[in-house]
Amino acid sequence: QLDQLKQVSDVEWRIAPFGKMRVPAVIYADQALITEMDDKVFEQITNVATLPGIVQAAYAMPDAHWGYGFPIGGVAAFDADAGGVVSAGGVGFDISCGVRTLHTGLKAEDVAPLKQRLADRLFTHIPAGVGSTGKLRLDAGGMDAMLRGGARWAVEHGYGSEADLDRIEEHGCMAGAEPGQVSEHAKRRQRDEIGTLGSGNHYLELQEIVEIHDTKAADRFRLRQGEVVVSIHCGSRGLGHQIGTEFLRQMVIAAPGYGIDLPDRELACAPIHSPVGQAYLGAMRAAVNCALANRQVITHLTRKVFADLLPGTHLSLIYDVSHNTCKEEWHTVDGQTRRLYVHRKGATRAFGPGHPSLPGELRDIGQPVLIGGSMGTASYILVGTEEGGTRAFSSACHGAGRSMSRHQATRQWHGRALVDELASQGILIRSPSLRGVAEEAPGAYKDVSAVVEAADRAGLARKVAKLKPLVCIKG
Ligand code: 5GP
Ligand code: MN
Ligand code: MN
Repeated sequence: QLDQLKQVSDVEWRIAPFGKMRVPAVIYADQALITEMDDKVFEQITNVATLPGIVQAAYAMPDAHWGYGFPIGGVAAFDADAGGVVSAGGVGFDISCGVRTLHTGLKAEDVAPLKQRLADRLFTHIPAGVGSTGKLRLDAGGMDAMLRGGARWAVEHGYGSEADLDRIEEHGCMAGAEPGQVSEHAKRRQRDEIGTLGSGNHYLELQEIVEIHDTKAADRFRLRQGEVVVSIHCGSRGLGHQIGTEFLRQMVIAAPGYGIDLPDRELACAPIHSPVGQAYLGAMRAAVNCALANRQVITHLTRKVFADLLPGTHLSLIYDVSHNTCKEEWHTVDGQTRRLYVHRKGATRAFGPGHPSLPGELRDIGQPVLIGGSMGTASYILVGTEEGGTRAFSSACHGAGRSMSRHQATRQWHGRALVDELASQGILIRSPSLRGVAEEAPGAYKDVSAVVEAADRAGLARKVAKLKPLVCIKG
């Protein structure tokens, strides 16, 4: 392991600036997670620390693993007026990929007899898989309206209610979206993909609340032991990927002209104040809206399935939070409040109590932090903390994080056998791709409980509830 890596506490490690690093790199993890961590993470986070205008430190979360340029589980903030940059690789290709969790009020024992039917219906009604298409077709005008309106656009078109919007970041609609900066190709890819899960690790899961760690916060989030919640994990589909790919290319070409010396081409970036930087931000915000609209339409489809099988059930949104974004936020650094562009790639925003952007009903308790684990282990809900504001710009982990590549996983597991084994544990998997299931084997991920424990002990976010999968519709 890297010589420069120094332990600060049982859950914090630091690499002091060396070479071209402008700030230190900080990694939150316990000893076991650090030992198992992909060495690439240390190299990548060190590279991120060399980028112009970076503030305070480059951070890696406990679930961090190798990513394109920036590690997945990376957080970095830049000051536009100090030459700060925006990076397409620092946001990730699945722009605004995120999780939303819905309260059902149903007891696990009442859902149990309907599990098969719920699994089959959800699988039939929610399109999943590579290139899956939905019922909604958007013409040019509809596309631009969706890209400007996000979940608000979806609600205006009958997919959900005003109450949903209050529980979504940015009130369901990201300001500053510029559909004009999104290429025709990106829009074409998205024409009929709204309301679809996509492939890979995207999922719709029925989960049972099996443990409460913080009764006060659980109460406020309406999480009760033995009850069932629905979590939806997906992003901006083909549109986000296309935007990421195109701007990455543009940033690689533009960077030298801005005097940016890249330690790795994959870190391609552009000054926030530059035309390329501004164009990317406009397009990225449109993709954020696309993801918010997508999760909103999927929520509507989910509600229809529940209305058919369990009439009278109300699926109300607890929260929706993205984990691949670049957002303009105010943070206090060395006693000074500064406007920063915070990149979170595979990292969840985790605002503590009192943050003005939280919904009124949750403002005094803090932001729900929604974390996936795997289809066979556990997932968690955490809450943002006060002290998180002084650490990693109020960010936490976003999942367990991969511990091996998809390719390695397919050599170790078989999709069919996994589905059968999980079924014997009472977990029903429905997926269009058995290969995809093998790639997503629970054993291909880190120990989510250890990751969440490290985030909790580091003060990034506090554990509220542990969830166990019952049904997983897998992309
Ligand atoms: P990513 O956003 O990096 O694609 O994935 C986020 C996290 O979701 C992963 O790190 C993993 O821990 C978690 N995850 C992947 N597949 C599943 C699944 O089927 N169910 C649950 N609950 N979590 C999953
Ligand atoms: Mn994701
Ligand atoms: Mn994604």
